[in-house]
Amino acid sequence: MSEPSNPFLAPSGLPYQLPPFADIRDEHYAGAFERGMAEQLAEIDAIVTSTDGPTFENTILALERSGRILERVGNVFFNKSSADSNPLTLALEEELAPLLAAHSDAIRLNPALYARISAVHDRLDELGLDDEARYLVKRHHTQFTLAGAGLGDSDKEQLRALNGTLSTLTTRFEKNLLADTNDLAVVFDDMAELDGLSAGEIAAAAQAARERGLENSYLLSLVLPTGHPTLTSLTRRDVRERIMRASRTRGIRGGEHDNRGLVLEITRLRAERAELLGFDSHAAFVTADETAGNPENVAAMLGSLAPAAARNARAEQADLQALVDAGEETYDVESWDWAFLTEQVRAARFAVDKAAMRPYFGAERVLSDGIFFAAEQLYGVRFAERTDLVAYHSEVRVFEVTEADGTPVGLYLLDLHTRDSKRGGAWMNPLIAQNTLLDQPTVVVNNLNVPRPAPGAPTLLSFDEVRTLFHEFGHALHGLFARVSYPRFAGTNVYRDFVEFPSQVNEMWMLWPEVLANYAVHHETGERMPQALVDNIRRSVSFNEGFLTSEYLAAAMLDQAWHRIDSGTIVDDVAAFESDALAAAGLDNPAVPTRYSSTYFAHTFSGGYDAGYYSYIWSEVLDADAVEWFTENGGLTRDNGDRFRSLVLGVGGSKDPLEAYREFRGRDARIEPLLVRRGLAE
Ligand SMILES: [Zn+2]
Repeated sequence: MSEPSNPFLAPSGLPYQLPPFADIRDEHYAGAFERGMAEQLAEIDAIVTSTDGPTFENTILALERSGRILERVGNVFFNKSSADSNPLTLALEEELAPLLAAHSDAIRLNPALYARISAVHDRLDELGLDDEARYLVKRHHTQFTLAGAGLGDSDKEQLRALNGTLSTLTTRFEKNLLADTNDLAVVFDDMAELDGLSAGEIAAAAQAARERGLENSYLLSLVLPTGHPTLTSLTRRDVRERIMRASRTRGIRGGEHDNRGLVLEITRLRAERAELLGFDSHAAFVTADETAGNPENVAAMLGSLAPAAARNARAEQADLQALVDAGEETYDVESWDWAFLTEQVRAARFAVDKAAMRPYFGAERVLSDGIFFAAEQLYGVRFAERTDLVAYHSEVRVFEVTEADGTPVGLYLLDLHTRDSKRGGAWMNPLIAQNTLLDQPTVVVNNLNVPRPAPGAPTLLSFDEVRTLFHEFGHALHGLFARVSYPRFAGTNVYRDFVEFPSQVNEMWMLWPEVLANYAVHHETGERMPQALVDNIRRSVSFNEGFLTSEYLAAAMLDQAWHRIDSGTIVDDVAAFESDALAAAGLDNPAVPTRYSSTYFAHTFSGGYDAGYYSYIWSEVLDADAVEWFTENGGLTRDNGDRFRSLVLGVGGSKDPLEAYREFRGRDARIEPLLVRRGLAE
């Protein structure tokens, strides 16, 4: 039941159609979803009951125009349930999952709708459509076909049941993970245990403990990946071991938040669904609609990198062990020692102390004089904070983005800090997705999980957090700059194994000389980061790449292994399956654990990267090749930025991305720049 005042029923009247957050209350969501689904089904019904023959206009465009209420509420709600959840939104999310899956099936599996789309598709060459419209017809036809639109009635019934169950199970996986991550936050009673952390980090840990009602204690919240950022600096081995064990225990402790049963059930049902759709495995089904094409191509690429990565990691491990053996207390290097010892080797070899960089990475300067500055130099855009506009949480900031001449580009929202109500990781969400068909502007949000500083202290970012901010801002630019005709193609609606490419390229500006010099300024003294430190950072960028590549590849191959099983294979032991898969890949070094274990692998079991975690390194081939192009052509210039913007970022999903890349680069991407960057070249 939706009241007339429900703010999701009509487009927002605020600048850039920013959702009217001040008016949105939790009780609006359920009614708006209900109304949105009903509205879209009525719109679909009007398409299929039309007595006119199927045309681009009355079928494809009508489909593109449908579902506006649902999009408005969905974008706001799913951002809220990821970034600022509460018991009501978590319960509603679980309740909605099967309803939305059924709704999507009611459209994707509608035989009359599929018949009309196919009829338009069959006459594609006679319709006189432009390239973008032709591509739109093809994409709809492919996606309806892959979704099972051509199946018989009883198969469709089974498919609907599978989709509904899977959406419930993946939502439950995410909910369990958030609960177990919060439960497993590590508490210390003695400040001496935190030796190695900065005064600011210790104060923040004390504050985090107080927020949980714990006096005279210190609390470290876990992060999504296996390795915790504090492992680089905590001096006590027993403390590091506690944190690592807590991180790796997520989802395997028995009890109500154990995710092992869900992993087995989700992978079994995905295999069953793939078979129903005519594929050998879920990975085959997924990659059929990616630039990779099939899981064999993925396996060939990952497999070609793994041996060299594992070898490099072993060489790095020998260096760490040598450091330990030269000391007083000797022990075998374990996973919880790796980051700590690596920092010592890094400091000795390159005179780079990562902890000493933090005072130069004040969040405000990084944002305005680093992230925004680079975008201004490349694309001519300007950023102005709009404190008159309200976001979904008081900690979220709103910036207006305009061209140099003042022409509006969009709104950029930034939600920097961690909260118990926010899931782990960092990501970008569209809130309003640009397209000319419905005359929609663009509003995007970046979410990160930077620990909040103690009250009154400035936020100082770690090296990795600066890189993450540049990365997520690359996604934001993709969303802000895309100028497309149809909602289906808005912003980052590209193939999943392409979507990381623009964000990864944006990371290159973090250490670009003019950019770094502009933002890396000591937050107290105002002095620039010493040139020697800058030079040493640059020399050390590929340091520890054996470890980083190995932990990533382990997760990517684990994700593929879970999704290459066929429906006849019974797996009943998560830990055994995982260790077999890692051993088969040659990535079973206990000192180099997988970046995510199955029971906390949110990307693959709830985050939409199922059989797709390979995408990061797949896109990195394009990224490294594009970075080479920028470097060869003078780097940070308007000409370079404008070319990248018009040929890559600006096209959104409106054309074949590899074709777009070819136009930008003048040829296909080559893998060599990636091999050099990651130290994997022969
Ligand atoms: Zn990304």
